[in-house]
Amino acid sequence: MKAASPFSFPVSPALAAKLVKLGLARDTDLILHLPLRWEDETRLTPIRDLLPGQSAQVQAVVREASVAYRPRRMLTVAVADAGGVLGIRFLNFYPNHLKLFQPGESFRFSGEVRGGFLGLEMVHPRFVKADDATPLPTQLTPVYPTTAGLGQATLRKLVARALAAPITDTLPANWLAELGLPELEASIRVLHQPPPDCVLAELESRQHPAWQRLAFDELLAQQLSLATARRQRQRLCTAPLPAQQQLTAAFIHTLPFALTAAQARTWQEISADLAQPHPMRRLLQGDVGSGKTVVAALACLQAIENGFQAAFMAPTEILAEQHYRKLAPVLSALGVRCAWVSGSQRKSERTAAWQAIAAGDIDLAFGTHALFQEAGSFARLGLAVVDEQHRFGVGQRLALMQKGTEPHQLMMSATPIPRTLAMSFFADLDVSVIDELPPGRTPVVTKLVSAARRDDVLARVTAACLGGGQAYWVCPLIEESEKLQLQTAQDTYTALAEQLPELRIGLVHGRLKPDEKQAVMAAFQAHEIDLLVATTVIEVGVDVPNAALMVIEHAERMGLAQLHQLRGRVGRGSRESVCVLLYQTPVSELARARLKVIFELTDGFEIARQDLLLRGPGEFLGSRQSGLPMLRFADLERDLALLERARDYAQRCLEAHPAIAARHVERWLGNRAGLSQT
Ligand code: ADP
Ligand code: MG
Repeated sequence: MKAASPFSFPVSPALAAKLVKLGLARDTDLILHLPLRWEDETRLTPIRDLLPGQSAQVQAVVREASVAYRPRRMLTVAVADAGGVLGIRFLNFYPNHLKLFQPGESFRFSGEVRGGFLGLEMVHPRFVKADDATPLPTQLTPVYPTTAGLGQATLRKLVARALAAPITDTLPANWLAELGLPELEASIRVLHQPPPDCVLAELESRQHPAWQRLAFDELLAQQLSLATARRQRQRLCTAPLPAQQQLTAAFIHTLPFALTAAQARTWQEISADLAQPHPMRRLLQGDVGSGKTVVAALACLQAIENGFQAAFMAPTEILAEQHYRKLAPVLSALGVRCAWVSGSQRKSERTAAWQAIAAGDIDLAFGTHALFQEAGSFARLGLAVVDEQHRFGVGQRLALMQKGTEPHQLMMSATPIPRTLAMSFFADLDVSVIDELPPGRTPVVTKLVSAARRDDVLARVTAACLGGGQAYWVCPLIEESEKLQLQTAQDTYTALAEQLPELRIGLVHGRLKPDEKQAVMAAFQAHEIDLLVATTVIEVGVDVPNAALMVIEHAERMGLAQLHQLRGRVGRGSRESVCVLLYQTPVSELARARLKVIFELTDGFEIARQDLLLRGPGEFLGSRQSGLPMLRFADLERDLALLERARDYAQRCLEAHPAIAARHVERWLGNRAGLSQT
């Protein structure tokens, strides 16, 4: 029996399997599979007019072909037209190549012209058998993104078949007129089959109206699907948790400081969400040290004063435990029953904690992300706080949202999400931003120091510590191997202990047992340790105001978000704070760009924006494996204006033209539109 083709024309199962790898499973996918670039094969250049460095197509007759063995095995073919001779070389070739290039046969070769030692030549040109009678293409030739074993010729044929049918526009003509965008059909055809008078450079520039139309459509589809998700969520019901001003007011009263205006504002936004009978999905953003924890604690208390439980989750144990150690004593004093659940806890302790949670004897549970996966066993979970949401990835966010009964959710991120990303990939969430740091912070001075001057840095560390301060020494990041990472941390610790005998030095890394980790952190907090050697486990959340100096080794290997987070560990007290970035030469171009950004900027949002520019949204969000469709045509930085318009039109569409919305999402997301079915 023949497998049915997923297309409107027959395609063998083997070919269909290759196409699926490229995400091509419908005619529409082929139509939207746009070229990476184009080749101009509409013209022939006489050989005598060729210039080195130029891309050209020639039509010429084979004079002779032979296999040479020096300097290495290669096929050389001498070809000529009426005015000149050109050398063709193939370093990889099959025996039948030699047979193909019979003297007297005429071919077209296209490729880059180079000045070889025997005159002009082309290496590995594309070629077809053709003579004066063979018509030249009348259009530029598209070059498509492809995968192993799938040739351009096959792809071109498939796309051409898919293009045989007319393409209906999903958007009404009057909208296009308002937007100043061309029709979809014309846009798609010009990109797949550009007319010969089309200027290549213009077509390649993504400012071309055809590209702009596709970028707009893609952004609109994204906005529609996320806005739909948001609307569907607003139709879900959950227990409203209105402000009672009891535990929350009491907690604010115990704080040794007043909330910043930004904290007060974001807290009001969250408090109002919790009072709604629909599950909250709010992202609380704020730079490192902006005081998100207090706001999250207030949210938990509002849930608890309504008789519900709250869960406070962090991505790492060290961070989850720090939240627990910091908040539990204060909250317990208010009568809140807190528990700590962790994967490395003794089994009996953990079981006991879960039993208490399931029995409703616990109001607030702290733990790692794993906590949530067992969340079924809460008696009355009203709110889940997810700290450092950024690190869970977008995929997990969607997974959390798809759970059966929906508690309210507050997500927190210290890696600021640039506005463009918040407006696009996070459009299904509400966002609150703490855009101000608590008063009294001292700005951190950043220094870039070559590793060759490590001795100067050691002297600085000694001086700072003997002067009553404390310091962090962050070990190089070794992503490839956890074992090597551990080894490096231990070696660094041993070396520093030897080089700095006057100092009390501690070591903390991810492999320590939780109680060992806690003991080291407590000793550092109590100033029984001067210098804390650490792996990047201290990247998030650690808070010791007396530590005003940080040295980061091999800073050139670290990402911007990581450097910014690390640097945020200092500058928390009244001491003049310094962050020394040690780098090892030579530094790659990308690393140099990163170091420049971290050296020049302190504002987390601006750093994140630069990071996005350097890495692109896929890397930035870490969502390549998350299944969230990435943008193919739109560039958030370049197309900000389009993004804003797409957002407005998405609202208009959903409010007044649901049929247009459905048609548009179907075309762009097709079976991936599952995203909107949350
Ligand atoms: P982050 O936003 O990075 O999670 P934290 O919540 O850990 O920041 O807060 C950083 C530090 O600032 C903590 O020591 C916290 O007690 C303190 N803090 C929070 N809010 C204020 C405030 N309004 N005034 C002074 N200090 C504050
Ligand atoms: Mg925090």
